[in-house]
Amino acid sequence: MDATQMHDVIVVGAGPAGAAAAHRLAVQGRDVLLLDKAAFPRDKTCGDAISYRAMKIVEEMGALDGVRKVAQEIRSVRFVAPDGREVASALPRHPEYTGVLVIPRLQLDTLLKDHAVTAGAQLVENAHVDAIQPLAEGVQVSAGENMFRARLVILAVGANSALLRRQDILKEQPQTMLAARGYARGLQSDPHEIIFSYDRMALPAYGWIFPLPEGRANVGAGFFRIGPNKDQMPATARESLDIYMQNPAVQAAFTTGITLDEVKSFPLRVDFLRAPKFAPRTLIAGEAAGLVNPLTGEGIDYALESGRMAADGALAMLAANDFGAARLDEYARSLNRAFARFFRYHAVFRDTLFTYPWLLNRLMALGAHDRQFMDHLLNSALGILDPAKILAPRFLARLAFHP
Ligand SMILES: Cc1cc2nc3c(=O)[nH]c(=O)nc-3n(C[C@H](O)[C@H](O)[C@H](O)COP(=O)(O)OP(=O)(O)OC[C@H]3O[C@@H](n4cnc5c(N)ncnc54)[C@H](O)[C@@H]3O)c2cc1C
Repeated sequence: MDATQMHDVIVVGAGPAGAAAAHRLAVQGRDVLLLDKAAFPRDKTCGDAISYRAMKIVEEMGALDGVRKVAQEIRSVRFVAPDGREVASALPRHPEYTGVLVIPRLQLDTLLKDHAVTAGAQLVENAHVDAIQPLAEGVQVSAGENMFRARLVILAVGANSALLRRQDILKEQPQTMLAARGYARGLQSDPHEIIFSYDRMALPAYGWIFPLPEGRANVGAGFFRIGPNKDQMPATARESLDIYMQNPAVQAAFTTGITLDEVKSFPLRVDFLRAPKFAPRTLIAGEAAGLVNPLTGEGIDYALESGRMAADGALAMLAANDFGAARLDEYARSLNRAFARFFRYHAVFRDTLFTYPWLLNRLMALGAHDRQFMDHLLNSALGILDPAKILAPRFLARLAFHP
């Protein structure tokens, strides 16, 4: 590749955010280079669940049929409350989809980057970007010995903040959740039901079982080292998963002798409200901008959406040949308009519910009897209902007086 060639945009990171950005830019006829330090197929430590919002963008990228072929459809959810009470519920009806999906990231991310490449993005694998330097008319991106040039860069490097720190973009330690997951065989619980457990662990934390095809499941656990229990948290994410593996909900879900393969841990950045969203000639998308729901830990949907928004920001800048502060700030404001209120509410829900577990117990108890309330809870968690609706006076009254 010619190192002096000036591309329109370089996207660093070919996860969901980077693939969505590169796909949109390529579809719009832009010259886009997609760099990733890994070679695909590559794994990404994750729970592998994709929400309706994620499915919408995957569909718009033309990848949903391929995803469905290897994914497990989920139609219901089972919660184990802090007091051990189990509450199961069908997912609320969605106008377009019959359920959310679970698909290993090894497969999802390969499909997404394939669609970006088919649309016209040039992928360079094994390109570990270590520096970005300003040029008179753009940026120079270095990956070891290799140099690339573009008028603008989109950083979609996920929770790995090394590059953002080196560039002095990220100046403080971001708030993170620590989580670990592995893959198990021999699932004997409902293969279309996901399980979230909040019992037998210091909160804020949860464990999950997300079914995959052929009796496999993604089993994981994660926690925040915050709040009144912060000194009682496990030393590592792996330890929190070991604790969860002893949970009766896990033991009951699998045939005896369950073992986990491919156990890996990784942090989740949940600092969107404080995170930098741009730098000179640089837009930041996905988890690199802290876009993970601080209550549920999902971030694939927000990575895809923000990747697309970064592409739209880039398209506007390229069209106007204006990469100035006002344009960069407009991108940050578009992210804030889309996500800030929602993330603020969910951070407050997390801090309140996990500080006062009796409240979470009451929520679950009420949800077990009140379909409309449970639908609101689930739709809010899925990001398709304004979370303020949970605080409607009629629900607060029911919560206060529910036996
Ligand atoms: C244990 C765990 C469970 C989770 N469960 C879920 C879930 O069930 N559902 C959900 O929606 N979200 C979940 N998440 C969050 C989700 O995984 C992330 O939010 C999502 O992957 C973010 O996408 P992204 O494109 O921003 O970044 P990533 O998916 O992390 O992609 C970043 C890409 O950038 C590349 N890269 C990084 N640095 C460089 C560099 N310097 N040079 C070149 N390339 C680079 C990486 O190789 C990678 O391909 C979970 C996270 C964890 C840790």
